[in-house]
Amino acid sequence: MARVELEHIDKVYPNGARAVVDCSLRVEDAELLVLVGPSGCGKSTVLRLVAGLEEVSAGTLRIGDRVANQLPPQARNVAMVFQDYALYPQMTVRRNLEFPLRMRGLGRAELGAKVERIAGLLDLAPLLDRLPRQLSGGQRQRVAMGRALVREPAVSLLDEPLSNLDAKLRVQVRAEIGELQERTKTTMIYVTHDQVEAMTLGHRVAVMDKGRLQQVSTPRDLYDAPANAFVAGFIGNPPMNLFAARLGVDEYGGAALTLGAQTITISAERLAKVKGAARDRVLTAGIRPEHLRLADAKTGAEARRDTPALDAVVEHVEWLGHETLAYVRVPDDTPAAERDAAGAHQLVARLPGMQMLSTGDAVRLALDPAHLYFFDADGRALPG
Ligand code: ADP
Repeated sequence: MARVELEHIDKVYPNGARAVVDCSLRVEDAELLVLVGPSGCGKSTVLRLVAGLEEVSAGTLRIGDRVANQLPPQARNVAMVFQDYALYPQMTVRRNLEFPLRMRGLGRAELGAKVERIAGLLDLAPLLDRLPRQLSGGQRQRVAMGRALVREPAVSLLDEPLSNLDAKLRVQVRAEIGELQERTKTTMIYVTHDQVEAMTLGHRVAVMDKGRLQQVSTPRDLYDAPANAFVAGFIGNPPMNLFAARLGVDEYGGAALTLGAQTITISAERLAKVKGAARDRVLTAGIRPEHLRLADAKTGAEARRDTPALDAVVEHVEWLGHETLAYVRVPDDTPAAERDAAGAHQLVARLPGMQMLSTGDAVRLALDPAHLYFFDADGRALPG
């Protein structure tokens, strides 16, 4: 088992594509680190660099205590599991599992013992004499994992290993991978574009965008304290609502946040903190869908002061049984130039139970200002 360390790694492909930019990341021994981000952000490239399938353009890659930049793939003691399994179709499960060991010239007894052990770990014992086509998708995936792990690699690399499975199986195999990692204590780097997979599986999660690492943290930290607006808008299902807002004063001269045509009163202390850090008055505010709720019917200035709320119009409703997702639009009379590019002021609220809402309904959404996040013009999280 081993630690993997990337120090200021760059990868520029021969066609000029800068897939990875100044990536510094340390994966601890026995850690399961998930690398997540949208398609094309450079996740697979990082994995391929660690595997030795691509050469780094700059920086230092260490596996264990060795600099691995120039090591050929077979000398790195890493195993890679691809999304398409790549099992040998004419070989039984047993032969598939034995294959990497035969390549190493292992003796019969040792080979048998290693295959039995991994088959036991992965519940493959009853399937050892079957051919891949006689297995379900989940079973095939387990054999592919087994074939990677039977060599007892120092590091396992998994590239979207669940993407060929249906939704139910994905959840099951995801849990199995987590358990397997716990049992084997293999250092694992797991790539996915699915933030739910990342949050449920990773000890730590590294979020990437456009070739750059955005934040590396525990799932909880990513959710509670996103480092920037990209992470805030990527993590969570649905993710955080982000909207252009202006700092100002409310009708009583108190501290306020103006969103579209509406004003939310926030504490003077909070405003001062944000103002101190922000370079200008226009910033991005964020609130998670679960921190919006339907406000009481009472109206008027007093109610607004007690409970900050936004008037909105329902655009679309999703009833999920235990909760209702209400997609709403907040009326906006700000000049187009001040609105964010996303054509914002569209929010989603996660409301408990089955809410009888229809498209076109006028609603008031209450929010606790303590749950507001603020990001500066460059998207960096502001304190407070
Ligand atoms: P992800 O795994 O996050 O989808 P990739 O690492 O596959 O992203 O790709 C990152 C970027 O590098 C993309 O812009 C992609 O088009 C480019 N890229 C990937 N592989 C190659 C390659 N072999 N040659 C040139 N460009 C590549």
